[in-house]
Parts: sequence; structure tokens; C-alpha cells
Amino acid sequence: QKAEWAKLVNEETVTADGHHVELAANIGTPADLDGVKSNGGEGVGLYRTEFLYMGRDNLPTEEEQFESYKAVLEGMEGKPVVVRTLDIGGDKELPYLNLPHEMNPFLGFRAIRLCLEEQDIFRTQLRALLRASVYGNLKVMFPMIATVNEFRQAKAVLLEERAKLEAEGTAVAEHIELGIMVEIPSTAVIADLFAKEVDFFSIGTNDLIQYTMAADRMNERVSYLYQPYNPSILRLVKMVIEAAHKEGKWAGMCGEMAGDETAIPLLLGLGLDEFSMSATSILKARAQLKNLSKTDMETLAAKAVEMSTAEEVVELVQAIEKK
Ligand code: PEP
Ligand code: MG
Repeated sequence: QKAEWAKLVNEETVTADGHHVELAANIGTPADLDGVKSNGGEGVGLYRTEFLYMGRDNLPTEEEQFESYKAVLEGMEGKPVVVRTLDIGGDKELPYLNLPHEMNPFLGFRAIRLCLEEQDIFRTQLRALLRASVYGNLKVMFPMIATVNEFRQAKAVLLEERAKLEAEGTAVAEHIELGIMVEIPSTAVIADLFAKEVDFFSIGTNDLIQYTMAADRMNERVSYLYQPYNPSILRLVKMVIEAAHKEGKWAGMCGEMAGDETAIPLLLGLGLDEFSMSATSILKARAQLKNLSKTDMETLAAKAVEMSTAEEVVELVQAIEKK
């Protein structure tokens, strides 16, 4: 089977009925690019920049960050690279920021909330990204967006830094797509309003599931509630994709669900444009997608969102696979 998958490394991802989707990789450092290439990644769908900030005792400088972003953009040779701005907090701590202890870190001062408050940190990262943008196909994505105002503020800060760089005579790519992670239910619910302002969505199911089900993704005692196939999650995913398409935007997914064998037929049927997963899952997903018909999966997904339980959804998908 592995040998069969390996033959797909240089192929595009096209379904049995000729529909193209993009299979991208989630990465944490420039060193991960080797794996993206050897597994035929069509882009980077999530570059988690937290790792630049972790395992040290001070903030990375603009120059250090610039070198990393440039390395990834150059390494991907013009293929899309979605870089997520700092998503610290929750399970990812930075001791040197000396942030006060919180009762509910997953509901607390993290990610874009911290960046909009501690703007020096945010601006340094944005400058590094903007400077690196001329080396490839950069798309910038903001994490943990809960309101349209947060997106507008983050975008305004980015545009200010762009204007400063341009005034200094520094080259910045002309068009850089700006998107958001959809990982908070409030954002999924008004995705139609966001879609008028953002260039793309990437659905972060790791957090979207925990927040929708009110079940801590790290707590084993409530892990039974961590249900990617729950119809509530499928309906939110459907809403987000439809909202994007209505405005001519694209929708991806970078949570674990995007690489899940049982979820893939459903996500194809719901119209997902980009699937971003760990590099080692890409070839298997490509092989699976080549055998699926998008039209058939649309019918499957339409049935799935009408099921009452996650178990019923799983049965539905497995019945199709046995045919
Ligand atoms: C997610 O929440 O789905 C996601 C991709 O981000 P992280 O796992 O880094 O929180
Ligand atoms: Mg997340």
C-alpha cells in the first residue's frame, strides 16, 4: 500500500469525478519542509509559529523570525504558505512573558487577544512576515478570532506595519491574503459576515470541537465528548464553507480532522477546498480522495448533517466505504 501511495507524490489531488482539492501540510519549523516535499504537500496550510518563541527565555528578534519565514517561503518555491501569527496561551505557555495564572487558560488571554494587547510582540512578527513575503506565496492567518472587530484590528495593525516598511523603502509583496482560523463557535456562526472581509478561512477543529462541546481537549475524563463527527460540528463546518464560497473565498481545515480517514469523505462532500494535515498523512489522503466522487460525497454529507449522533454518522460513512 505504501508503495502505491508513494507513486502519488508528484500528482495533484483529483477526485474520481475530476474535482481538485489541495492537500497541504501543518509544520512547526523550517526543518519540517523535507517531510512536506517527500510526501507531496501542495502547500503549507498551517505554519505554527509558536515554536519560534518556545524553548528559550526571550522573544525571538525580527531578524530571527524573518530568516525562518523566508526559509519556509523559499523552500516551498511559490506554493502557498499559510503562516499563523502567534497562538500562545492555553496549552502553549511562554514562561518569560510572566503572564498571571488563569483559572481557565483555554478561555483566557491567548493568541490574538494577547497580540492585540501586547502590540510590540505582534508588530515585530508582522514586520518579519511582511519582509519575508517577497520570497514566496505568503498568506497570513490570525488565530482564535472571536469577533469581526478583532479581525479588523489585526488587519489594521498589519496594514500600518506595511505602510511603515514601504515608507522605509523595504519591499513587501503586493498582495498577501489575510485569513482567520475558525476555531471559536461565535465565528463559525457568523461566518457569512466574516466572509465579506477575510480572504480565506481555515477551520481549526482541534479547538472548534472543544469549544462547541465545552470539553477540554486535554481532559481524558471528558474525551467521549470530543466528537469530530457530531452533527453539530459538521453543521458548523458546512456553514463556514458555504459562507466562504458565497463570497468567492476559499475554506480550508488545519485541525486533525482534515487528515482523518472517516472525516475526509464528509469534508469533500461539504465542499472543503484545502485539507491541511501532518505531512505523513498526505499520500494516504490523496489515494483515498482519488477514489471518491465529490458528487456522491455531497449526497453523503447531506445525509450526515441530518443524523442525530456521531455514531450514526460514522456508520453512514463506513457503509459507503464497504460498497
Ligand atoms: C486547531 O485548533 O484546530 C488548530 C489547528 O490549532 P492548534 O491545534 O495549534 O490549537
Ligand atoms: Mg487552535
